[in-house]
Amino acid sequence: MEEKRFAFFKKPPDKRRQAEITTYLKTRHPRLFWGAIGHSILGEELRYARLGCGKRALLYVGAHHGMEWITSLILYRLIDDLARIEERTGKPPLPEDHSLYMLPMLNPDGVEIELHGAAAGGPLSDRLVRQNGGRTDFSRWQANARGVDLNHNYDAGFCAYRVKEKEAGITGGCPTRYSGEYPFSEPETAALAAFLAILQPAAILTLHSQGEEIFYHPVSPPIAGADALGMRLARLTGYRLGEADGMAAYGGMSDYAAEGLRLRAYTIECGLGQNPLPIRDAPVIYRRLRRALFLLPTLL
Ligand SMILES: [Zn+2]
Repeated sequence: MEEKRFAFFKKPPDKRRQAEITTYLKTRHPRLFWGAIGHSILGEELRYARLGCGKRALLYVGAHHGMEWITSLILYRLIDDLARIEERTGKPPLPEDHSLYMLPMLNPDGVEIELHGAAAGGPLSDRLVRQNGGRTDFSRWQANARGVDLNHNYDAGFCAYRVKEKEAGITGGCPTRYSGEYPFSEPETAALAAFLAILQPAAILTLHSQGEEIFYHPVSPPIAGADALGMRLARLTGYRLGEADGMAAYGGMSDYAAEGLRLRAYTIECGLGQNPLPIRDAPVIYRRLRRALFLLPTLL
């Protein structure tokens, strides 16, 4: 009889649902290695699952942004699928010298606040309401629990962005696009930057929503193979390949990985519609991305 699959795409991944998902994954795949790169402001572990133990690392990161929790579900489902292949074949579906790190949620506090409102902010809840313009509706919340947009908190064009931020009227913690006091001021981005520096991944995919686009940050001199890999990813997903512009072109993880560390890093804007994308879009997005997520290790 065929095993009933865990329904990853049934509920948004709040803290409670994530506990269910990780319990399932740990029980179903006891060989899978789990670790954490650090903790969020409110003390949540920033967990990853790793497949393979080769020296050449790859990294997938989900949910930098509160409204974009659908990307975590995509990565949880991927972990399950890849671990199943490993069990079936006796080895991870990666070239031998590779390892794949999958970090489904970099911003667990922001996701919890987006899903459950200011109360999820614990001791920060009053300030969160102020940062949200006095509103109790947090359904458009992208930032972390201090009102910092994590994907503008990396050290890439930080000063130049500050000017644009001021022009846009952003002067402090708020639902989206505030870059923080200084680069890596937030524990989530500081933890990921330290992890990147140690791991030096051969390629990084960071999943956001939405737009069906893939962005990367060209640098001079160009990073060998960065264009070609971007084009392969675009072909495999059917998403459009482009360069970020406007405010989106500053302070992001893939900007920093390319500019600061000269790593091949791509921002994948999953799905199409209005954030937060409805959960019913998750299986469609997964089908669209699966080949790229599965095959990336073989494309390097
Ligand atoms: Zn995003």
